[in-house]
Amino acid sequence: MECWGVGSDDVGTDSAHPQRARSRLESMSTPEPSIFSRIISREIPADIVAETNELIAFRDVSPKAPVHLLVVPKTQAYSNVVELAAGDPGLLAKMVALANELAIEHASGDFRLVFNTGSEAGQSVFHVHAHVLAGGLDEGTLAG
Ligand code: 5GP
Repeated sequence: MECWGVGSDDVGTDSAHPQRARSRLESMSTPEPSIFSRIISREIPADIVAETNELIAFRDVSPKAPVHLLVVPKTQAYSNVVELAAGDPGLLAKMVALANELAIEHASGDFRLVFNTGSEAGQSVFHVHAHVLAGGLDEGTLAG
């Protein structure tokens, strides 16, 4: 007989063990929280400088400029800025606006906004984030 439904081995059908079924479902549907999600949930401490419903900003643990902040969406649905621009351009615009506010608050207002995109470009955390670099940057230091 042709069967279109989920089989007895599928998630959610383990009626004798609902807890086991639930944890299997969660492990399939919920990604591991990124390091930034763990900062957002306060599991990991960070020097938080701004927070809105959708964004958080904190100091980079390994600063590369006199002012080095990270602006991070609370959702980890987008792993890089290309995905974010395609999926939620309004949220990307809010990141830029917050970066501008932070550069005014923490430096002269001039700033460099960096989105490392892909491991060969130096991305190490695949939860989209903007580096806000400010505080007297030299020309010619863009790539390193
Ligand atoms: P990426 O290399 O992905 O563009 O940037 C990730 C940034 O996150 C790095 O600059 C790194 O220093 C920073 N970072 C990684 N882990 C932590 C952390 O636990 N706390 C803070 N504040 N920054 C982190």
